[in-house]
Amino acid sequence: MKLSNWFKGISLPRPPAAAPPVGLPAPEKVYLPLRQHRGAVAEPKVEPGQRVALGQVVGASEEFESAAVQATVSGVVEAIVDTVDPAGEKVPTVVIQNDGADAWADELAGAAILEDPAAVKATRPSHLLRRLREAGLVRAQVQGRPLHVDLSPPMAPQSYLYMTGIPVVRPIDTLIIRAVDVDPPVCPNQSCMGEASQDLAVGVAALARISGAKRVILALPSGVDAAGIAAIAAQYEWEVASVSQRAYPFASDNLLVQSLTGREVHTPYGEPRDVGVLLEPLISALDVGRVLSSGRPVIDRVFSVAGEVKNPQTFRVRLGTPISQVLDAAGGGPSRPGKIIVGGPMMGLAIFDPATPVTRETVGVFVQSAASVVAYADHPCIHCGRCVAVCPVNLIPSDLGKLCEFRMYEDAAEMNLMNCIECGCCAYVCPARRPMVHFLRHGKSEVLAGRME
Ligand code: SF4
Ligand code: SF4
Repeated sequence: MKLSNWFKGISLPRPPAAAPPVGLPAPEKVYLPLRQHRGAVAEPKVEPGQRVALGQVVGASEEFESAAVQATVSGVVEAIVDTVDPAGEKVPTVVIQNDGADAWADELAGAAILEDPAAVKATRPSHLLRRLREAGLVRAQVQGRPLHVDLSPPMAPQSYLYMTGIPVVRPIDTLIIRAVDVDPPVCPNQSCMGEASQDLAVGVAALARISGAKRVILALPSGVDAAGIAAIAAQYEWEVASVSQRAYPFASDNLLVQSLTGREVHTPYGEPRDVGVLLEPLISALDVGRVLSSGRPVIDRVFSVAGEVKNPQTFRVRLGTPISQVLDAAGGGPSRPGKIIVGGPMMGLAIFDPATPVTRETVGVFVQSAASVVAYADHPCIHCGRCVAVCPVNLIPSDLGKLCEFRMYEDAAEMNLMNCIECGCCAYVCPARRPMVHFLRHGKSEVLAGRME
């Protein structure tokens, strides 16, 4: 299909072709945070010393915006400790000593199996949604939401479109499956393009059935061999769009929706579903298919390692594996480590502890050596205008940066600070090397904090 040629942003180097994920053996211990998404922390359902089976629920909550957490190895609960998630918050974490038996929980034995899209179409949407909620699926991105929340009618007032004060909820008619990655060279979605076709067909059918979408668009990265997945798309009559991997941040949710459907998502709080679109990463669609076609929760995560490691590649790892062990499998990081950025180089979050576990919200890391990490000096703006030329949401980053730097947060909010998608394009082009995203991110959090008082 033809895309809108509208684009601001920057041009990044083309990422290397992503190979299929390599399976890693389960670790000796897994660390399972009781919150692996945006939302409420689950309550522990196990105690230290208790034996657990694979897939057994170890944490759950009655809160709607919370996902169940299952054991990803069989073994003995060693402790419940605090770990720090990529956003810097402490989260209680269940530590399980692996017994190596991989014995599945008995209660999973009788789960119904939906083997093909026809079986999915014959199943009630509410039943499918309940299965996904029980499986604890989470949208595959840092601070993603539990998938059952993404798939439910809007709950938060800010996601309504308001017209004359009356909330209007537009029914979803289009499902976009995003196989192109937002923040290359961390490319887990591209790595999975050759994954099980049946799981993908079942996953897409379930997402369409639950949301009510009649039209399915598969957004593929341009310039890579996608013959296999394109054949599946042809079989099920999905539309296919080829999206540049170099045009950053073209693949981010709202911009992709606009270019594929012509529908503009209203900022700052708008979401694709406000304009009748459900957009999910390919990894999430595959996870949905695996849950429904196996009757079991997903116990692993596709995880890309990019940047300054010996062998950058994508792995399939058990949830709860320390990131340091995945880096070792990639040949190890630089001798003088600098930063480990969860997510990707442009939009990711740097973590300070390499032992942070792989969770449902982490899809990869970008590693930098100490030599590559630029120590910023605080230079003033030289009014060159480059940041204004690249901002994909048409802000004036130079002015916003100054207002946030001098703590004039409400003035910045009046200049649409909250519309910033934190893509980092302004910082990337700034010749004065101003830490724009830090200013803007901090300013946004101050505005939000001020409004909650
Ligand atoms: S102001 Fe925000 S949206 Fe605009 S370029 Fe900078 S980080 Fe991106
Ligand atoms: S790119 Fe940097 S120096 Fe140029 S106007 Fe923007 S903030 Fe100022």
